[in-house]
Amino acid sequence: MKGDGEVGGGPEASGKAELTSVEEHLAEILAAIAPLAPAETGVGDAYGLVLAEDVAAASALPSFDNSGMDGYAVRVQDVAAASPENPVTLPVTAEVAAGDTGTYALRPGASIKIMTGAMLPAGTEAVVPVEWTDGGRDRVAIRAGADYGNAVRLAGGDAKAGEVLVTAGTLLRPMHIAVIAAAGRGSVLVRPRPRVVVLSTGSELAEPGTPIIPGRIWDSNSFMIAAAAREAGALAYRQAIVRDHPDEVRPALEDQLARADLMITTGGVSMGGEHDVVKAALQQLGTIKFRKVAMQPGMPQGFGTIAAPGVSGISGASGFGPVPIFTLPGNPVSAYVSFQIFARPAIGALQAYDGLGLESVRAELTGPLRSPPGRRSFLRGVLDRSRGRLTPLTGQGSHQIATLGKANALAVVPEHVVRMSEGDIAEVLVLP
Ligand code: AMP
Ligand code: MG
Repeated sequence: MKGDGEVGGGPEASGKAELTSVEEHLAEILAAIAPLAPAETGVGDAYGLVLAEDVAAASALPSFDNSGMDGYAVRVQDVAAASPENPVTLPVTAEVAAGDTGTYALRPGASIKIMTGAMLPAGTEAVVPVEWTDGGRDRVAIRAGADYGNAVRLAGGDAKAGEVLVTAGTLLRPMHIAVIAAAGRGSVLVRPRPRVVVLSTGSELAEPGTPIIPGRIWDSNSFMIAAAAREAGALAYRQAIVRDHPDEVRPALEDQLARADLMITTGGVSMGGEHDVVKAALQQLGTIKFRKVAMQPGMPQGFGTIAAPGVSGISGASGFGPVPIFTLPGNPVSAYVSFQIFARPAIGALQAYDGLGLESVRAELTGPLRSPPGRRSFLRGVLDRSRGRLTPLTGQGSHQIATLGKANALAVVPEHVVRMSEGDIAEVLVLP
């Protein structure tokens, strides 16, 4: 295995000083986001949400001694001599099914037929599985002895009363839902799904499905970001395209504030030009920082908060206070990468969940990669996880969305590295 790639020039060569690092930008974003207030939610609706309390077993699990198999409750001594050649025959004095709440006692020298999950009769020492018997109703012939506790599930054998079963901050998956229900909880405190309003700007944009003329393109960003937000666990509301007119942007955003926990725009934030209307419209608010982040794609980044006119105060989970806003660059690949690196963790932060960062693996490159000095490159590739290899895709331009459609991972080329070669081991972010 070869080294980490060819190292580029020093900080002067990279112009590093004026750029904000990826980590610093992300840290500022996460620090600015307050989690949404938790809400009591039925266990049937809690899947995919983040738990906001520790869920403990109210009582022991199981809460009573019960049978682990269909069979016969016995005393060990009564079946000790049983063998296939010389079965022991016992009278069957009762039958207990799962859900039977009656009281049964096992007499010495007798057996009680019992079903899986049924409460053990008093005096039971073991359950002989039905497979070891002739399955008799009034009398049963038993072909093998059983040890103490055979096929018996003791109260508390799964969890003790008061034991924490699922901790606050867990993203609830089906197994957690099962545990919550098994603990008897009909509802739990969870963070609501963040409501994300997505809006693209650009006078060149047309709705997909409508005809275009040269000079126009179909809007892909807003659909992509809305889908990515949903994938990250949010509710996404895609807005109509906003023209590059300074008077259109602010009202379009302010109209949506009441239903947004987070807003994401794309386009209109490049470094020059009066057509960069998002920047122009929001810069005067003074609550949004526009900066260059040391990455490629996605260098121009904006993040801050926006409030309805006249509203001030603390950043709002309620939807009425200032709402966090990302202004992502317009090139689709830049917007996509920026979302995954910055906005996805932010959606997590709204739920007090820190598990939405992209999974990072290491893989061997099957071809070379290039990166400008001083910037961290996120380059599209095809990751073969079973072989631990990443094949870089050709067409790494920020507008080259076709390449995005083929990628399942991003190779990371660090700031100080300008070139990596076939055979080098790279950090690779797995795309969700
Ligand atoms: P901007 O950041 O507005 O200067 O846009 C940079 C590039 O991204 C331009 O080529 C735009 O046409 C393109 N672009 C901007 N918004 C979108 C969008 N919603 N869908 C597809 N391409 C876009
Ligand atoms: Mg634009």
